[in-house]
Amino acid sequence: MQHDTEATIDAGEFAAWLQAIIASLRGDAGIEVPCGDCVGCCVSSYYIPLRPEDHAARARVPATALASAPDQPAGQLMIGYGPTGECPMLEAGRCTIYADRPQTCRDYDCRIFAAAGIEAGGPERRVINQRVHAWRFSYRDDDARRRHDAVRAAAAFIRDRWQAFPGLCAPTAPTGIAVLALKAHAVFLDPATASLTDTEKAQSILRASRE
Ligand code: SF4
Ligand code: SF4
Repeated sequence: MQHDTEATIDAGEFAAWLQAIIASLRGDAGIEVPCGDCVGCCVSSYYIPLRPEDHAARARVPATALASAPDQPAGQLMIGYGPTGECPMLEAGRCTIYADRPQTCRDYDCRIFAAAGIEAGGPERRVINQRVHAWRFSYRDDDARRRHDAVRAAAAFIRDRWQAFPGLCAPTAPTGIAVLALKAHAVFLDPATASLTDTEKAQSILRASRE
């Protein structure tokens, strides 16, 4: 997924980012994304959950901005999107409820796709994919490089060997693949993994993701 002719953007030091994003995925801490002027997340046909704890956002999002999403959990409110994929809370390229935006918007970090070596999705995620291609991580040492290789190997395995997972429980959407690869990348740091069967690798990934 290398596009070296495009402008690049500093994604930060990989090992430090990896530690921070795993803490964020566990809900232990937030993460700052150097988005600049990018609003890729806001124009990419995402349904945004309005959770009960999103008090400030729920007070500001009008009923006309809500929509029903496929597989929406019972009682879960969702912000929808317009025909061009834009969030209805975006106006003139700015989030009109930025200070009160939902937690999902605060947590989104498209560097997970750059780390996993995959795109965020198809044409509807074009703006995010441009940023994914532009991110470049730096590495403080060889261990950081090995960890990045391990994340990419885990993502490729989850994407390509999904049938090896018990009950076909592997995620198939890009976000799920990237998140599982980040959580379970240590499996691919272990040289012994190379001699495991695909089923054993899948089981190791699931175990590691729960630790
Ligand atoms: S696509 Fe990435 S850089 Fe752009 S707004 Fe979303 S998280 Fe930030
Ligand atoms: S609520 Fe704001 S930050 Fe979240 S997707 Fe909509 S415009 Fe973007």
